[in-house]
Amino acid sequence: MPTYEYECSGCGHRLEKFQAITAKPLRKCPRCGKSRLQRLVGGGGGLIFKGSGFYQTDYRSESYQQAAKSEADRDKVAADGGKAAAGTGGGSSDASGGASGAQKAAQPVKQGE
Ligand SMILES: [Zn+2]
Repeated sequence: MPTYEYECSGCGHRLEKFQAITAKPLRKCPRCGKSRLQRLVGGGGGLIFKGSGFYQTDYRSESYQQAAKSEADRDKVAADGGKAAAGTGGGSSDASGGASGAQKAAQPVKQGE
């Protein structure tokens, strides 16, 4: 289970929490009691966003999390992209041969007299 880091945008309280990756993010700050916890993205290694203006204006919004997430996704795609472009064709089937001589067994069955 990963450790998630939260910070309260109301009082600035920070905490860490073990959670399953499918668990809902915490909302309520244990210190001030307001539902203003934000899960910090990045797993302890380098926050993605730069610039204090962005931090202040968008920190509490959904777009903050969305932007951070899309950044991470983009890095992931770039990491394993490029391997889908290889390999074309290979389908030059020659349809000649094979079907010849298939008629020799076509003898009509005599039906009595
Ligand atoms: Zn708080």
